[in-house]
Amino acid sequence: MNIALTAHDAKKELMVQFCIAYCGILSRHTLCGTGTTAKLVSEATGLHIQRFLSGLQGGGQQIAARIGYNEIDLLLFFRDPLNPKPQEPNEMQLLRLCDMHNIPVATNIATAEVLIHGLERGDLDWREIVKVNEG
Ligand code: PGA
Repeated sequence: MNIALTAHDAKKELMVQFCIAYCGILSRHTLCGTGTTAKLVSEATGLHIQRFLSGLQGGGQQIAARIGYNEIDLLLFFRDPLNPKPQEPNEMQLLRLCDMHNIPVATNIATAEVLIHGLERGDLDWREIVKVNEG
């Protein structure tokens, strides 16, 4: 599965801790992420993560484009609900695309835990079956 990671500044440490905790599961998947998030997670875990631009420079849009190409199966997007971000309209677009394409998305660690356990259990394998059938 292709998993995209992104986290606002206030949530980056949480993302790092999450990825350390689930490093074993994540290592069996293909990872990508926005610039700083990908860098921090990969430094802390040793996981290989394809690194996009930083969020401010359009990293979120790069993830959005891949969702459009059906290249993302799961998005972990730890948002900071307290401080508005200049790139927020683009982020709303990212979440809209997840809904359009039925991409499981977690915007907080509680949902991320549920999704990662579901991923491990095979609950998301239907995505691979749909991709194969779509050619
Ligand atoms: P970043 O992007 O991982 O490059 O910081 C996420 C964000 O917009 O904060």
